[in-house]
Amino acid sequence: VILVISEKPSAAEKIAYALGEAKRIEKNGAYYFEMDDMAVVPAVGHLFGLKQSVKGSFYPVFDVRWAPTFEISKKNEYSRKYFENIQNFQNSVDEVVIATDYDTEGSVIGYNIYRFLFPEKKVRRMKFSTLTRDELKKSYEDAKGPDMRLIEAGLTRHNLDWYYGINLSRALTTAIKSTGKVFSIVSVGRVQGPMLKFLADREREIAAFEPVPFWQIALKFKIGKELFDALYKDKQIWDEKAANRILDDCKGKDGFISDVIKTNVEKKPPCPFDLTSLQTEAYNLFGYSPKQTVDIAQSLYSDAYISYPRTSSQKLPKQLDLRAIVEKLIRQVKYKKFCDELLKGKMLPNEGKKKDPAHPAIHPTGEIPKELSSTQKKVYDLIVRRFLSCFGDPAKRESMRVRLDIAGHEFRISGSRTLEKGWMEIYEPYLRIKEVIFPEIKKDDKVNVKKLEKIGKETQPPSRYSQGSILKELESRDIGTKATRAQILQTLYDRGYIREKSIEVTKLGMELVKAMEIYAPQVIDEELTRSFEKEMDGIMNGKKKQESVLSEAKKILEKTLEEFRKNEKEVGEILDKALMETRENERTLGVCNKCGGELKLIFTKRKTRFVGCSGYPKCNNAYPVPQGGMIKKTEKNCEKCGTPIVYVFRKGKRPFRMCLDPNCETKADWNKKAKKE
Ligand SMILES: [Zn+2]
Ligand SMILES: [Zn+2]
Repeated sequence: VILVISEKPSAAEKIAYALGEAKRIEKNGAYYFEMDDMAVVPAVGHLFGLKQSVKGSFYPVFDVRWAPTFEISKKNEYSRKYFENIQNFQNSVDEVVIATDYDTEGSVIGYNIYRFLFPEKKVRRMKFSTLTRDELKKSYEDAKGPDMRLIEAGLTRHNLDWYYGINLSRALTTAIKSTGKVFSIVSVGRVQGPMLKFLADREREIAAFEPVPFWQIALKFKIGKELFDALYKDKQIWDEKAANRILDDCKGKDGFISDVIKTNVEKKPPCPFDLTSLQTEAYNLFGYSPKQTVDIAQSLYSDAYISYPRTSSQKLPKQLDLRAIVEKLIRQVKYKKFCDELLKGKMLPNEGKKKDPAHPAIHPTGEIPKELSSTQKKVYDLIVRRFLSCFGDPAKRESMRVRLDIAGHEFRISGSRTLEKGWMEIYEPYLRIKEVIFPEIKKDDKVNVKKLEKIGKETQPPSRYSQGSILKELESRDIGTKATRAQILQTLYDRGYIREKSIEVTKLGMELVKAMEIYAPQVIDEELTRSFEKEMDGIMNGKKKQESVLSEAKKILEKTLEEFRKNEKEVGEILDKALMETRENERTLGVCNKCGGELKLIFTKRKTRFVGCSGYPKCNNAYPVPQGGMIKKTEKNCEKCGTPIVYVFRKGKRPFRMCLDPNCETKADWNKKAKKE
């Protein structure tokens, strides 16, 4: 029997039906697909993971081995039936074909199953970028031996991440324990450290920023009956006296249009999406986090609607048969008009610079999607329109700059508009450009000044990174990889080191960075992470070996951890203080509207809870709260009664907001809702 192994159950079905007449066989809660002399059987992501060889929670520790994931953690128990499902083929298999996603992770998943369950058997690797029937068939026919370099790079990454993750987490947790006050698990990973440090540096820049005042002069004027706004040519006037002088000069005077300049610009079509640009665009347009976007894209890929999303390519190579894809997209009414138009032309896509040896840029396959969720619909439409736009004609835009003269002082207005839409017609729902209707203004027109005013402003601190802008920054600095950045960012949120969409480093995050800077600088060293990424690339290019990279990492970590251990107490104190403050902060829900004190969540000896005032016993203000679930502050007060509003999170239920005061009139609605649930 030829055993084909897929990355996930959904992919197994696609692969099976592409390769032959398949029959679905259920067995012990898992399933596989059977054909003549072939079976397609799914993994569920990693079936093997790294496990410490000897017991104990000491550090440093580097003795690891691969073991089935369900032996490593109880939360992986679900994978046991899939593991056994594959294991059942041990005696009947002649050849293994690895058909997991074509990237380092997929290669590690497939290779581990092969080497631990079917060693000595023949093995081949299928390489594909879409789960469409044609491509799967072809990649099966073309399958060759496994890509050992990719596999070795993947295995190395797992080891490195384990070395860092386990050792640092133990070192930090031991440090906190050594203070004997709070118990808390604090972790930081190999790439998380530098990423957090990078964000913390921006936080410090913002804190250290001193605003500088400046002035602007705004002008409202009329030409004929139409009213316009203009600004003085220097948008930042640093000297208030100078601003006043301009005002005085212009006071009570009218002026004329001194110049009208029109220029035409061509805007090239965009290039197709790589993962980072898709994530950035989806964040800007829909507010989806990078993690959400990659998950949605992954699900569209699993259903064969789009190509593999974890790519850094902005290229659409000819082998893709782009024309055939567009011919298929015609079947969807909303794209028909554009496809018809494009098919008349040469169909040469505008491409970007970035490449990826394994996959092309993200593109639709042409298959008609069935039953997409609303989020899937949005991301799918974005990808299709972006793909089609790449083939479009350049757009033509005209910009207009107008200069006014008032008593010898120059004021300006400007704007642009589209003359020929070109590709913009396809991408229209997602364009973020301003269209300005050009006024009928000519040189020497008389200007009737209606209002002239001085506006005081301040320079702004550098802005915080958004979940969209941070990805590009990390990519340009080579921190993390396209496949991992979104997850690592999410982990920083989950661990409470950062918060908010506009990323803010928390007290705990800042103190963690501070402690690391003093006692274990290498853990947050961007340069070091980057050099490891380079070494893994070296493995992929066949220039480096796993052993040498790992032994180097081990040496660095051993030294760092030894240094760290000497300062355990100091690190512990810093983190302990930050943790206490964080907890105290989380417990504080708002301001008491009786005495101005702080309303805090208070736990009784019987483990029940209520909200009380920090002014107790002078202030008796108190409110009951639900006993189950998590209560968090919203920083908002009730519109009806002014009492703080809190979030209530309960397991398996939709979180809701409520006013703390049980007698508040807003509560009547809430009680009704609660009953319905
Ligand atoms: Zn009070
Ligand atoms: Zn209220």
